[in-house]
Amino acid sequence: MELELQPLNIPGIENKRPVVISGPCSAETEEQVLSTAKELANVGIKIFRAGIWKPRTRPGSFEGIGETGLAWMQEVQKETGMLVTTEVATAKHVELALKAGIDILWIGARTTANPFAVQEVADALKGVDIPVFVKNPVNPDLELWIGSMERINAAGIKRMAAIHRGFTTYEKVIYRNIPMWHIPIELMRRIPNLPIFCDPSHMGGCRELIAPLSQQAMDLGFYGLMVESHCEPDKAWSDAKQQITPDVLSFILDKLVIRNTGETTESLRALRKQIDELDNKIIEVLSKRMRISREIAEYKKEHNMAVVQPGRYDEIINKRGAQGTLCGMSNDFMRSIFESIHEESVRQQIELINK
Ligand code: PEP
Ligand code: MN
Repeated sequence: MELELQPLNIPGIENKRPVVISGPCSAETEEQVLSTAKELANVGIKIFRAGIWKPRTRPGSFEGIGETGLAWMQEVQKETGMLVTTEVATAKHVELALKAGIDILWIGARTTANPFAVQEVADALKGVDIPVFVKNPVNPDLELWIGSMERINAAGIKRMAAIHRGFTTYEKVIYRNIPMWHIPIELMRRIPNLPIFCDPSHMGGCRELIAPLSQQAMDLGFYGLMVESHCEPDKAWSDAKQQITPDVLSFILDKLVIRNTGETTESLRALRKQIDELDNKIIEVLSKRMRISREIAEYKKEHNMAVVQPGRYDEIINKRGAQGTLCGMSNDFMRSIFESIHEESVRQQIELINK
């Protein structure tokens, strides 16, 4: 199923990268919402976010102010002229948010992971024209992410964007949610006209990582950023460690280096031609290597030998890892390349032996 998309066309938002959405993790009090929004408006932010209903990992922590907060969002619209956005996870949220005139809706990571919930939100959106942004699911599953967007799109929502906020991991990493950039990059390849935001706040989980992650997202050609901010970050009722003041946000945005996307120059074209030629050579060499593997398989078959000889495999992986390091490539990269080559070689040998 292809997504049927229209340009976001958000009133007052130029298509200048990065389009920035900012505001607190949660709407806590009218005063906190209004003062954060005013400070953000003063530094030029045009889209205000605040969580009204909060999906929390454990019960007992602050689960959002609920419906009351919607009136504060309307105040933000009135007093600052900003557009406002919030997370919706149920049909009831959608109904209340639409009634309150929220400008943009987003679907949170836990909801995206659940097709029943996404379908419920999609059904509630039938016949409505509003931009809907879909965060990646908590687990690194691109199909699930795309599937959620397809459900929303099939309900008639054409103005859509994706938000990359990283993925849950048990690995010990510096991130709260590991970026796995190859997943949004593959999303760009599959759906080139889909704008993608990065949420460095939930990805990094701490203030220090917001600037480098935002820069990385810009270098990869992301369309926008969703950054959590708070008038008094240390006092935030949720995600305090990752929120920054509007002033700090403005400082970070000023320092971002924004490079052109999509523009191809002559010298870039020439370099790409060289890459294409080298890729062709790599494919040729690989196919020669596989041919020799098959000859080895013939020999093994004649002499009744097993396909995999662990000692030899270990030798290849270790030697190539070390050779690669000498040539300026990481050991991990070399290992994964030669693991894949070995896997294909074993597959071809087994196929031949069983003929
Ligand atoms: C949020 O943006 O406040 C939020 C809950 O994020 P996520 O769904 O990415 O965890
Ligand atoms: Mn948050």
